[in-house]
Amino acid sequence: MRKEFLPFSKPSITEEDIQAVGDVLRSGWITTGKHNAALEQEICAYTGAAEAVAVCSGTAGMHCLLQALGIGPGDEVITPSMTWVSTVNLISILGATPVFADIDRDTMLVTPETVAACLTPKTKAIIPVHFAGQPCDIDAIYALAEPRGIAVIEDAAHAIGTRYKGRHVGTRGSAVYSMHPIKNITAGEGGVVVGSDHALMDKVRQLKFHGLGVDAFDRQTQGRAPQAEVVIPGYKYNLTDMCAVLGRRQLARLDEFDRKRTELAQYYLEQFRTIAGILPLGAPQGYDFTPAWNLFAVRVDRPDLSRNEFMAALKQRNIGTGLHFRAIHSQKYYRERTVNAPGGLANTEWNSDRICSLPLFPEMTRGDVDDVVAAIRDVLNLPGNAGPDCQKVIRRQSFRNYRALWLRG
Ligand SMILES: *Cc1c(COP(=O)(O)O)cnc(C)c1O
Repeated sequence: MRKEFLPFSKPSITEEDIQAVGDVLRSGWITTGKHNAALEQEICAYTGAAEAVAVCSGTAGMHCLLQALGIGPGDEVITPSMTWVSTVNLISILGATPVFADIDRDTMLVTPETVAACLTPKTKAIIPVHFAGQPCDIDAIYALAEPRGIAVIEDAAHAIGTRYKGRHVGTRGSAVYSMHPIKNITAGEGGVVVGSDHALMDKVRQLKFHGLGVDAFDRQTQGRAPQAEVVIPGYKYNLTDMCAVLGRRQLARLDEFDRKRTELAQYYLEQFRTIAGILPLGAPQGYDFTPAWNLFAVRVDRPDLSRNEFMAALKQRNIGTGLHFRAIHSQKYYRERTVNAPGGLANTEWNSDRICSLPLFPEMTRGDVDDVVAAIRDVLNLPGNAGPDCQKVIRRQSFRNYRALWLRG
């Protein structure tokens, strides 16, 4: 068995990164400043986006963007239930109604068909999620939205580095990237809103900083009126320069990170070809893309073992896992308050019961993947990785533990 715990995710931070953050701390300017401005430019250069606004989280960026689009009471916003809760919380906080589109069972992405099924005259926006770093069929979703005057916001939290038909995702309308520690690049915490509508992006800029339209750095360095006034009540969602400098350094390494993630993901895929009932995500069909592999998600579809038992058994074997995500419409607040796709959410529910993220981060080795796969084979009592005596002991142990789990709940 593996001696050291293998977490399911871990940021890659170098001594030079620590030095760079230290340099900002020593510089006398630690909040939003030149590193924010540079990060915004570099995100535009990397992705091809027209404009970028750095914020303190992806969630904060989504809040500004939804409000800037005027989303409010009476509006419906279509998004999957298989996503992080933040988007749906914001739709609700703004007084609008989240409408859940089902996902493709294999890729876990919303499709033009599942989105179309949710359209009503009240639909104001669609938020497709590029789950795990694989892109949705964005052109087809725009083809539904544009003629009806509906906004599309790509939730690209998992997808910085993902290409769709040769272009970076998030460059067509507006999108939000996240720099949370488990995403493809991290700033500690942080997010970036990108978009091509200048008036909309200006509103986002205002909302992220008290509704002033300019932040402290603009006022000091760019000679703008020091008595800037509130044009709309706004938030305090700006990013510190300690975070921004880290985000910049990570962005410079993104291609290296994604190469490593892809190599590891492909190695995982090879291993799972021979393990029944542990199902990796399928690749979207019908369009050209390059995934950024933020998560390596599998579905535990075994008659003898639930997903929760699988996660607990891996933890005992020093393998960390994550759960991305528990369907939102199954959670307390939303059970009574959301609208689901007319045909129901069968694929979302099937995945919500089975989904589990396995360890995937750039510093992992193929040997680590071997450890994960060996632990899974062991949990499933498949031959191949532990001696017969060891197998027997582990089997007895796991039986006891499953029993304990069953008894508990
Ligand atoms: C992480 C995540 C977010 C939010 O990003 P934060 O930077 O953590 O606020 C939004 N959507 C999805 C799908 C995510 O995984």
